[in-house]
Amino acid sequence: SNGRPVLALDSRDLLAITLEAAPAAVLIPAHIWTPHYAVFGMKTGFDRLEECYGDLTGEIHAVETGLSSDPAMNRLLSMLDDYALVSNSDAHSPAKLAREATCFATELSFSGLRRALRRPFPGLLGTVEFFPEEGKYHWDGHRACGVRWSPRQTREAGGRCPVCGRPVTVGVLHRVAVLADRAEAGQPPAARPAERLLSLTQIIAEAEQAGEGTMKVQRIYEQMLAAHGPELKILRETPLAALAGTAGERVADGVRRVRLGLLKVTPGYDGVYGTVEIFN
Ligand SMILES: [Zn+2]
Ligand SMILES: [Zn+2]
Repeated sequence: SNGRPVLALDSRDLLAITLEAAPAAVLIPAHIWTPHYAVFGMKTGFDRLEECYGDLTGEIHAVETGLSSDPAMNRLLSMLDDYALVSNSDAHSPAKLAREATCFATELSFSGLRRALRRPFPGLLGTVEFFPEEGKYHWDGHRACGVRWSPRQTREAGGRCPVCGRPVTVGVLHRVAVLADRAEAGQPPAARPAERLLSLTQIIAEAEQAGEGTMKVQRIYEQMLAAHGPELKILRETPLAALAGTAGERVADGVRRVRLGLLKVTPGYDGVYGTVEIFN
């Protein structure tokens, strides 16, 4: 309906067919909390991986957290303790490749990557994550009534909007909270560090108080790539003084603030995108 192909096949059966064709194949459930079609999604999802993969659950070693969740959320569920959490970006638009990423220190081969994605995950270093709060359905609430609630606030209010009295729209974090059995993220052996980043164009745009798509922002972005190399390197490693030299003090300060997590995060709810402000 939206141009994406749909394969009407149970995930368990897809895995069985795949393993029959290629016994060394790796299947990682993707975007696991996306409301529609995802393995734990609130519309059509399961409550446990076993309910989805049945007798083949042992073949699943990792799950992909998607834009709508990060490791801190997923580690609230002890049922994921034995699973690695990886983070991939979609190929919907080339500029957004690697906005989320998984870091490896392995041989650059299929078998090297495969080994890192199976227990005990040798060479799997961690992930680079976006802010799941930016999603349109992260918290709960009613857009028209101006009610933006955390899952706890919704629970305490019995799920009813104080303005119109109808049930509030429940978001991804609420779905996680329903299945969670911990108050704070666990650190099982499969857990790896996660970094949270914003895109470089987002930082430049806020620093320059211009839109991300403007010529000004694009020009600075291209200059930075030409001078310092790939975006992930600029965001994570390039010395701030060097960045200030090409893009100015304010952009460099924006990168510093993102590295330190000095950001103001306002979660999305009921169809309203969340925001991350760098200079607040
Ligand atoms: Zn996708
Ligand atoms: Zn309402």
